[in-house]
Amino acid sequence: MNKFEQLGLNEQLLKAIHDMGFESPSEVQEKAIPVLLSQETDIVALAQTGTGKTAAFGFPMIQKIDTKSKTTQGLILSPTRELCLQIAHELKQYSKYYPSLNVTAIYGGASIIEQANQVKRGSQIVVATPGRMKDMISRKMVNISKIQYCVLDEADEMLNMGFYEDIKDILSHTPKEKSTWLFSATMPKEVSNIAKKFMNQPHEITVGTKNSASENVQHEYYVVGGRDRYLALKRLADTNPDIFSVIFCRTKRDTQKVAEKLIEDGYNAGALHGDLSQNQRDMVMKSFRNKQIQMLVATDVAARGIDVDDITHVINYQLPDEIETYTHRSGRTGRAGKSGISMVIITKSELRKISAIERIIKQKFDAKKIPSADEICE
Ligand code: ADP
Ligand code: MG
Repeated sequence: MNKFEQLGLNEQLLKAIHDMGFESPSEVQEKAIPVLLSQETDIVALAQTGTGKTAAFGFPMIQKIDTKSKTTQGLILSPTRELCLQIAHELKQYSKYYPSLNVTAIYGGASIIEQANQVKRGSQIVVATPGRMKDMISRKMVNISKIQYCVLDEADEMLNMGFYEDIKDILSHTPKEKSTWLFSATMPKEVSNIAKKFMNQPHEITVGTKNSASENVQHEYYVVGGRDRYLALKRLADTNPDIFSVIFCRTKRDTQKVAEKLIEDGYNAGALHGDLSQNQRDMVMKSFRNKQIQMLVATDVAARGIDVDDITHVINYQLPDEIETYTHRSGRTGRAGKSGISMVIITKSELRKISAIERIIKQKFDAKKIPSADEICE
């Protein structure tokens, strides 16, 4: 008997888990799944990125849904379009042996009519961004009055993005008698306020140290002159020919510019930011997943929650304004027990930010030198 079997999961899910190659549950899965399966309870689960939170709520939700009914019973709110699609995609894999379970993703930038029709055909689980969900509720395109399970995924990030009012509004359309499952990497005041306001004596689960970055990630910084950032980036890419990375910039404009330059210089690069159409964003993510793109240049919002396996490097082309964001960025690598490197390209005048980050992630950075062109040729 493997450990998944001991959590109380049924045959259909165990078979799907086997197909996906998951050998044993992650800590948050081990802690959350038995509770969610055996009780109708609210839960607050804190676990850093890459610890398998999607399955921690996805498996129990799938098992508890009544698939004979076509009513929408499970609602998952998540901060970005990419994440919605990703969660829906994961849930479809988990439920491959549930032929009559339908999962629909609802997010902005794609046809609202089509999404509404999909829900109407009978989606027991809906994965939505708060903005689009609110829109569909007010246009009576979706009925969430029979929701039994409501997940607030990446709650910290949803609140950061200003979704508090939307979430409040959405929850007011759900029945009182339901279970709310809140998942978050960090627990700022806003998140505990939500928990207090909308939840009833939640069961609490914490995995690892709060706010700390993944232990599988090694942190490095490279001091450069302000004009040398791009050159430094190229050198780092040249030293790591098998690089598969996300490169973070501070603005959409810089993101686009850096990606364009990389492409011009012959790298397999792509840009991901909010000024692209949904179709463009989907295409970029697809190419990245297929590894046709090796270097994905992205803004924080667009990259939030991206779960692509095997990301070897996260490169901070510019540091984020909020130090907390660094944890999310570096969490794109070192996932599912793999190791990864998070690099920071930094100017001398910004150096003190490094020690501030070290205090938050409770890990030390290695000071590294950008390799010279000769060193790369060798
Ligand atoms: P989080 O939401 O905590 O950031 P995800 O749910 O996106 O993490 O999972 C991160 C990655 O780990 C995904 O690729 C997922 O398929 C994989 N994963 C999840 N659970 C397991 C497991 N028990 N064994 C192996 N891989 C897992
Ligand atoms: Mg997640």
